[in-house]
Amino acid sequence: MEQEKKLVPNGGYPMHTFEDLKALYFVYIKSEKGRKIVEDAYLLAKEKHAGVFRKSGEPYIQHPIEVAYILAQLEAGPATLASGLLHDTVEDTDLTIEEIRKRFGDDVALIVDSLTKIQRMKLSKRKETDFEAEDHRKIFLGMARDVRVILVKLADRLHNLRTLDSLSPERQKAIAKESLEVFTPIAHRLGIYTIQSEMEDLSLKYLEPEKYKTILDLLNQREANRQESLTSLKKRIADILFEHKIPFRMESRVKSIYSIYRKMYKKGYTFDEIYDVLAIRIITKTEMNCYEILGIIHATYKPIPGRFKDYIAMPKPNMYQSLHTTIVSGDGNIYEVQIRTEEMDKIAETGIAAHWRYKEGENYNPKEEQRDIEEKLHWFRDFVSMSGEGEKGSAEEFMAALSNDIFNANVYVFTPLGKVIELPTGATTLDFAYKIHTKVGDQAVGATVNGALVPLNTVLKTGDVCEIKTSKTSPGPNLGWLDIAKTSSAKAHIKKAIQKREASVESREALVRKGREWCLSVFEKEGIGPGEMDRLLGEERVLANFHVDSRDALYAMVAGKSPTPQGLLDFLNVKREKRAPKLLKGADKRSSSCPVVIDGGEGVMIGLAHCCTPIPGDHIVGFVSKGKGIIVHRANCPNVASSTRLLEARWRDDLGVATYPVDIEVYANDRANLLADILVMLSSKGIVCSDLKAHLIKENMNCIIAMTVFVPDAGTLDDVFTALKGVRGVYDGKRIIH
Ligand code: MN
Repeated sequence: MEQEKKLVPNGGYPMHTFEDLKALYFVYIKSEKGRKIVEDAYLLAKEKHAGVFRKSGEPYIQHPIEVAYILAQLEAGPATLASGLLHDTVEDTDLTIEEIRKRFGDDVALIVDSLTKIQRMKLSKRKETDFEAEDHRKIFLGMARDVRVILVKLADRLHNLRTLDSLSPERQKAIAKESLEVFTPIAHRLGIYTIQSEMEDLSLKYLEPEKYKTILDLLNQREANRQESLTSLKKRIADILFEHKIPFRMESRVKSIYSIYRKMYKKGYTFDEIYDVLAIRIITKTEMNCYEILGIIHATYKPIPGRFKDYIAMPKPNMYQSLHTTIVSGDGNIYEVQIRTEEMDKIAETGIAAHWRYKEGENYNPKEEQRDIEEKLHWFRDFVSMSGEGEKGSAEEFMAALSNDIFNANVYVFTPLGKVIELPTGATTLDFAYKIHTKVGDQAVGATVNGALVPLNTVLKTGDVCEIKTSKTSPGPNLGWLDIAKTSSAKAHIKKAIQKREASVESREALVRKGREWCLSVFEKEGIGPGEMDRLLGEERVLANFHVDSRDALYAMVAGKSPTPQGLLDFLNVKREKRAPKLLKGADKRSSSCPVVIDGGEGVMIGLAHCCTPIPGDHIVGFVSKGKGIIVHRANCPNVASSTRLLEARWRDDLGVATYPVDIEVYANDRANLLADILVMLSSKGIVCSDLKAHLIKENMNCIIAMTVFVPDAGTLDDVFTALKGVRGVYDGKRIIH
């Protein structure tokens, strides 16, 4: 059975009403306009959150009021207070950014929008091991974009920590851990000590409840003794300062539980070895006063050597200034004494907010103010590696560039599974793809960003969720990608991939050449010249039989010895018999049907060459092949032009009705039904054709049609060409020699 949880409204902290908040900001916001913005924001937030309650029991509106109250304690301006009041409305209610922009202007809309996006990332729910706290901080800063966003987020988180009791122990620990890893370092860097130390103590309470209690007990045990000692020390110091007529006020503070925890459990001190558990703070008017007071203290009490620090001359990076020294009081207790001016005190407590503090007046410019703050924050330089020291540009340009680097130096993009990918500003989906994996980059065809389909040159922003679409048939990287990619790593991969592909094209060419040369050496022994070999091996049936889509691919395979040239010949011989049985029969000496007469060639087998497909009427020659009889070529056939083994040949005078195959090409402008019209024309003339192949040249929409037509003689072939040119679109036709 679940144990009933005791609900403590507002975590037991004093609850503030809007009237309390109003009393606070009325002190420093004087303009009617400013006051109205805050009040309007409150009324709208109250209306939108109406009827909703927090887990701790109070109406939801209590949370934004407390967040704004924390901000008002830092003297934040109207836009920041209004944003604090509205910070959960877009995420949790039906209010839109557009509506906020309409009613409160761009500033408030921008801040609330950033906060909503940060909230949607639900940072603390991410579980990835590679999700480092440092990434986390950078993502947060990258998304914040405006110091005011950071302020509201810190106030929001602080109030959530104050009211953590109503959540499950797992959630408590997760939020506490995230606060320590992500938010307190930011509060520290911004110098907002009040938020930093309260967050640290609260986080510790949930992460290390026992150690927290140990320290609390130790502090309480020493409390009575401490109060007595402290009172007498303060009185003594006050007396001396009055004597010297130095203006001052004095405070005392106990070191935060978290700082004591660090000294005890991280650095191994015992509680009594910690010198500065107690600190006295003397706040005075001028820097000069500070040094005067230091002199007086050192003259009165024994300082502990090595403990004096001058943070006035050497401020901390977060702008903290103060003199620190540690003394032994009259009763033997050890105290740290901090001496500073009012201004330094304000900065020590509220850091960036002291500079940020809302300034009234017509000329107030938040951008200028933010620049001013950034200028004072040395830690911003941590984020930037400034090359080129003595840069020329104006201070303003420098700050603009610096601010741009801080908030825009990197973008943090998520994979669909929540992994963070860090990329430089301006990086595209293509860079993202290569960052995931080289293979993903090489096969990328597109991407989705936040669910929308986008091209590979889409520039990514922090918080985007990006998924790359890949395809195995992607043509891969091309030179254009070098312009799309912004990261040098992606560019390097792209260059490499292009080079690799070119190298493989080259080596493929070498393979084709090698295979073809081998084939040729074998085919030539069979009386088949290079032209005829190329033609034969380019035939559709050959390609289909060897499962390749081009002759070159076949040659490349031959280079790999599968098939061998002999294997190709074996296949072709089957085909050749089908194609030329009549001719071979005609070579029979006893038959009078051989169409060619060769003087001195009687009794020898005669065949017609496949390369130049001679037909009656052509000038012809006989080529004496080794062991294959005489092959008849056209006299102008380049395959035999330089041969010394030629015999004179002529067509018989008494040819019968036989037809002979002849290979032709027809050139035409492509159009619908072109091939059909050609075939109809041929058929109407009683011309048989075969092996028709059409090739379209896309650039000019010209069409080359190769085919074999069967004609009795050259005169008929001329008629065929004339008729072909009569077909609309056809502009030329000719015989070809392979
Ligand atoms: Mn909130």
